This record gives sequence, C-alpha cells and structure tokens, in this order.
Amino acid sequence: MDCTKLFRVKPGENIDLDDIDADFKPEGLSRDEAEAEFANLTEKLRDLQHLMYAEDSRSLLIVLQGRDAAGKDGTIRHVFGPMNPQGCRVTSFKVPSKIESAHDFLWRCHIAAPKRGMVRIFNRSHYEDVLVVRVHDLVPKTVWSKRYDHINAFERLLADNGTMILKFYLHIDREEQLERFKKRMDNPKKNWKISDADYSERPYWDAYTKAFEDAISNCSTDDAPWFVIPGNHKWFRNLAIADIVVEAMEGLKMRYPKPSVDMDEIRRMYHEADEAG
Ligand code: ADP
Repeated sequence: MDCTKLFRVKPGENIDLDDIDADFKPEGLSRDEAEAEFANLTEKLRDLQHLMYAEDSRSLLIVLQGRDAAGKDGTIRHVFGPMNPQGCRVTSFKVPSKIESAHDFLWRCHIAAPKRGMVRIFNRSHYEDVLVVRVHDLVPKTVWSKRYDHINAFERLLADNGTMILKFYLHIDREEQLERFKKRMDNPKKNWKISDADYSERPYWDAYTKAFEDAISNCSTDDAPWFVIPGNHKWFRNLAIADIVVEAMEGLKMRYPKPSVDMDEIRRMYHEADEAG
C-alpha cells in the first residue's frame, strides 16, 4: 500500500474532510500484520534518523495537527519515540506567551525549526494561527487570511535551506473523539489530559472543519505537503505515518560522510599498536 500516494493532498486540491473516511483501514490487513510491519518501519526510521544526524546536511520537520484527542501525543510516542533523542526534538505550541504574542506569528516557529542533521516535531504549529485564531476571531479576517501566503513563503524558505517538511492532519470523526474523551474520563492515568477546551470546542466542530480544510488546501505544496491520515484506528495511523516518513527520508538518498582520517593509515597504526601489545 502506497500511503504517500493515498493520503497526500496534491497542490491546489480542495479537500472536503467529511468525504474522507476517518475509519479507513486497508482491507485484508490484520492488526497483527500491521504491527509487525510497523516494527520494521520504526527500525528503518531509527537508522534513517541516525544517517541524517551523521550526514549533518539536511533536516526534517514534522508538523502534527488535529482536533483534541486526534492522537498527536500518541503519534509522537509511537512513531518518533524510537528515534535517538540526541537527534530528535519535539516542540509543543500552546497559547502564545507574552513575548511570543509581541512578535509576528511565525517567530516562535522559526526559532524552533530544525538545524542541520536534526528531526524536529511540531506538536501543533504555526497552523494554529489560521485554526483556533480564525475559529475564535482572535484576530480579524484581514489578518489571518494573509497568513496562508506567509506560511507558504516560510515553508519554502525552510525547504530551500535543506529542511524536508511533512505535515500530518490526524483525521478522527465526532464519535471517535467522544469515545476518546470517555476513555480519558474512565482512566485515572488519563484524567490529567482532560481540559475544559475539549468540551467547549465541540460546538465549533464545523468551524474547525472549514478552517482545517482551508489550511490544508491552501498550504499543501511540493515543498511541504499535507497528508490527511485516517486516525480512528491508532495502529493504522501509526503505520501510515511511519510509512510516509520512511519513504520520504529514503528519497533524500543520504550518505554517511567520508571519514576525515585516512582509514588505511588508521588500520596500520592499530595493527602496530596491537602487535606491540
Ligand atoms: P495540547 O492540547 O496540545 O495537548 P493544551 O491542552 O495545553 O495542549 O492546548 C494547547 C492550546 O493552545 C490549544 O487549545 C491550542 O489551540 C492553543 N494554541 C496553540 N497555538 C495557539 C495560538 N497561536 N493562538 C491561540 N491559541 C493557541
């Protein structure tokens, strides 16, 4: 199954989220098979991240967006958790602080962008400024409507500087969200995750749908594609994202750098030292 092809939003495509099945899973693929395949993919991801770190030339930015309980935290834990923390960082974007609000909306994202060799995951992102900000009228339309162009220019700048950008919208439906809220309520280890916003945002479901659709349709580019990932089945969501990231990273054709020393000389010195005891 080619997840990249299946879930990638083509530049200029207008997406309708209500037409996309959040419950999708491939026919004939059992959960056990998917989990075995996922284990292979996370191993590959770990190797590719190691290679990216060693090559120290490109970087990877993953953007995760979705409604409350869509699975952003779970995706980070399961898909990116196996990566070496030395080469992978997560930034979670909350309501902007005083200093963040005193700058342009991209400022806090630009300083969090990955440096060469690194993987950076944005848990929420600059897209909040055309999502929650739009839905709740936090700035006038004349301000947020210009942000799609700003975002495309920003992402092009990062791409031109060697950052590969992959953006994932984790697509769950209303019933699944309610089900997950219930599980949070029933599981004492998950109670802390519940916030007033989980429930107060539900009446804005359709407004968010429209805001997500516009963000994804306006900002899925060759440099920084959006993927709409069916998210009701967590195991399939993880598999699909891992599959897309592996394919994209393999496409970079990264190479380990040549050693900075003369390896024949190093071997000769090793043998001499070995023989001398
Ligand atoms: P999360 O839901 O990501 O686990 P929180 O419960 O702390 O973490 O929620 C973060 C909140 O910050 C969300 O409600 C999100 O919409 C909000 N937020 C993020 N960025 C912005 C922004 N630029 N403007 C306003 N609110 C924002």
